[in-house]
Amino acid sequence: MSAAEVDANVSEIPARIAELGQRVLNGEQVTREEALELFALEDSADIHTLLSWGNRIREHFKGNKIHLCSIVNAKAGACSENCSFCSQSAAYQTGSPRYGFVDPEPVAEAGEEANRNGVTAVGLVAAWRGLKEGPMLDEVCDRIREMKDQGQTRPDASLGLIESQEVANRLKEAGLECYGHNLESSERFFPEHCTTHTFEDRLRTIGFLKKAGIKICSGGIIGMGETREDRCDLAMSLREIDASVVPVNILNPIEGTPLAEQDPLPPLEILKTVACFRFILPRKEIMIAGGRTVNLRDLQCMVFQAGASALMVGNYLTTLNQPVEKDLQMLRDLGLDPDWTEFDPNDTGDCGCGEKESCAPTEASETVTA
Ligand code: SF4
Repeated sequence: MSAAEVDANVSEIPARIAELGQRVLNGEQVTREEALELFALEDSADIHTLLSWGNRIREHFKGNKIHLCSIVNAKAGACSENCSFCSQSAAYQTGSPRYGFVDPEPVAEAGEEANRNGVTAVGLVAAWRGLKEGPMLDEVCDRIREMKDQGQTRPDASLGLIESQEVANRLKEAGLECYGHNLESSERFFPEHCTTHTFEDRLRTIGFLKKAGIKICSGGIIGMGETREDRCDLAMSLREIDASVVPVNILNPIEGTPLAEQDPLPPLEILKTVACFRFILPRKEIMIAGGRTVNLRDLQCMVFQAGASALMVGNYLTTLNQPVEKDLQMLRDLGLDPDWTEFDPNDTGDCGCGEKESCAPTEASETVTA
């Protein structure tokens, strides 16, 4: 490249990022093609320019509040599904713990700990294909009611596929406000990491939940061998389903799974992906979830500069995270506010994502997946 070409690039690329960033700040959407331009950035200086715009967009739409979530693994291991990243699949020998649906006490303890740490929501997570009508649904509804009665922290759930409207309605009646159900990756890449259910099955589940009036927490996992185009298409699908909270997990390769030897994504590629998600989903809670400690190491705090507005704290389902106190200190050091004092656990019109009007399911979004 000649010196003149270098000079032209130096001014053109930051100007293009700024043009797209300004449009997002003005309330416009980036197109898939425009988002792909951002995903394609390679130069470290350009990526840092993108991150600073991710930060600016986050601050514009979300202020300095950071939404904290934690999870409690209510049923572990021996899952019938074969998601290639997951240590809880019965298809793989991983040494991950296995136990049946837990008693009320551990769930109550997780709720109390979350309350103590000012965590917005605690998700009840189960490793199984999905939830059907029957005694297990009764138990799940009991746990949700108990957590709700406990106080400050909002009970969420992530309980796999739902195959009927009745199940979603029962969860809503029990007081569930937000359900976690990741799309995981693009529709194109999905069959490469799971063959026991489909992307369409996941969209159908989301359709039932939205129809029941439950907010959607849905994101994915990056670093499984998908392309940048797949990551872009995942974000576009999440925009289409109008997910309120968008967890971004980064693959933590587990021995015994098919992805055990997968090369990690470089930290800058991860941060760039977070920033691109912020451009595509400017008003949503973009939550950094599993895999951040092992993949980002000392760069963890940069996820907020890239545009993240939420953080999964406490231990993950089968892997360890850094202590909550350390995360809280990191947020304060960055001038961010982890206190979610405005969240009213009884206000069913707000899932806590900070978008009191726009996060309510719309008729148009209900038709996307039903
Ligand atoms: S990701 Fe969920 S559905 Fe897939 S194997 Fe793991 S526990 Fe089962």
